Amino acid sequence: MAAMDKQKKTQFQKDDIVTVTIEDISSDGDGIGKADGFTLFIKDAVMGDTVTAKLMKIKKGYGYAKLLDIVKPSPFRTAPRCELARKCGGCQIQELDYDRQLEFKEKKVHDVLVRLGGFPEEVVARASHPIVGMEDPYRFRNKQQLPVGEKDGKPVAGFYASHTHCIVPVSDCMVGAEENQRITATILDWMKRYEIPAYSEETGEGLVRHILIRSGVYSREIMVCLVVNGTQLPHEEELVEELAVLPDMTSISLNTNTAKTNVIMGKKVRTLWGKDTIEDSLHVSNVEYRGGKACFEEAHRQVTFQLSPLSFYQVNPKQAERLYSIVRYDAKLTGKEVVWDLYCGVGTIGCFLAADAKEVYGVEVIPDAIRDARKNAEENHINNVTFHVGKAEEVVPEYVEKRVKAENRRSRKGLVDVVVVDPPRKGCDEKCLQTILEVEPKRIVYVSCDPATMARDCKVLADGGYELASVQPVDQFSHSVHVETVVLMSRKDK
Ligand code: SAH
Repeated sequence: MAAMDKQKKTQFQKDDIVTVTIEDISSDGDGIGKADGFTLFIKDAVMGDTVTAKLMKIKKGYGYAKLLDIVKPSPFRTAPRCELARKCGGCQIQELDYDRQLEFKEKKVHDVLVRLGGFPEEVVARASHPIVGMEDPYRFRNKQQLPVGEKDGKPVAGFYASHTHCIVPVSDCMVGAEENQRITATILDWMKRYEIPAYSEETGEGLVRHILIRSGVYSREIMVCLVVNGTQLPHEEELVEELAVLPDMTSISLNTNTAKTNVIMGKKVRTLWGKDTIEDSLHVSNVEYRGGKACFEEAHRQVTFQLSPLSFYQVNPKQAERLYSIVRYDAKLTGKEVVWDLYCGVGTIGCFLAADAKEVYGVEVIPDAIRDARKNAEENHINNVTFHVGKAEEVVPEYVEKRVKAENRRSRKGLVDVVVVDPPRKGCDEKCLQTILEVEPKRIVYVSCDPATMARDCKVLADGGYELASVQPVDQFSHSVHVETVVLMSRKDK
């Protein structure tokens, strides 16, 4: 048996050409199939395809192959709307039918909750709701950050090819706004005309690094920010003149980033023309579950936000409204609750929930975000929210200690009714989770952009006395492998 296994591993060599039927899809979006029992990962192959592929890399027990030809296309295969879909690293599964993309994401969430979260299959199945998909999975992004470089002596802007820093020039990204084309073309023309050099990551020389374009879906305001390796631009006035006349242009600014880093934005922004910020709003809807499926009623309230080039803001605003509406549904607020909004960014969730809570306490590590959060609350006349700067795992335990001492409490319980966490990909810190368990909120609403770390953290919460009450995936990024999830963990009655 062992000898046979060994034979299987070594029978193929690099550059061999194989025919494979694709049976599954990896968490990175690659097609997975077997050639004589040997598992192969093939980029751009779709579940159900029969393809020929060339072996590129052989590992112990599996390998990577390059798609050569589709012998028999899958019924789930669809023509990508973007001709650069395979080259560009932005989309991984654009050739998979959108309904199949949604199925893949639902399964991804289900599987990690079972495998990493340790929840029994039937518990996950009972708690899970069908994913909230998009009506139109194109043209949804409100923000685009295009790296600028040079090809054949000409300035280009686009996206990085997957796993590289090579720019694939893109003139019209199908998930971005249509008007971005004209803005990008205007900037590239200006660079050509005045011989403004693009920045080079290798040498650290040159000027223009990135083009940031952001638009408000409701306000229709557009912001352009040029990220440059310097504080001044030659022919700045000419650039401003040409950009300012484009429809809906509201703000033009310059961001200075002189560091040799792959972090896109520097800290300093100078407005060249128009307003410093653009405005957008989020609409609050009631949710009703019909036949297990989330249905969104007409919005009855809105919260407005001022966005600077540096603020973090959800990039798919329509789906963000639904995500937050689900958070609000899970939080089951009656106006009497104390709510924590941990990892709060610019306070979007806290401001969204404030009208239905007694008090909201937001925590975020980036001071600028907290400054924006306070401004957002003020401008929306929300006065039952306070925001605190620091790491959740440090600020929250200190706050709890302080309250216990100040109020001479015998127990930590009852300080908070509902906790919302929305951590970055790495999930919550252990200390943060332990503090939440100590104060025993009735409900914990976990908003996640990485199902694996979410499953790991939910296991900790389950071991601490909470049950998996609801799992609601939301598609925020069609054609990519990413999935956002709202999980409700409810305190078990003792
Ligand atoms: N809830 C917000 C932001 C979510 S993104 C929204 O919906 O818009 C996650 C946020 O967590 C980021 O703003 C990031 O700066 C912040 N963050 C990262 N690590 C943190 C930590 N240890 N403590 C508090 N906030 C943190």
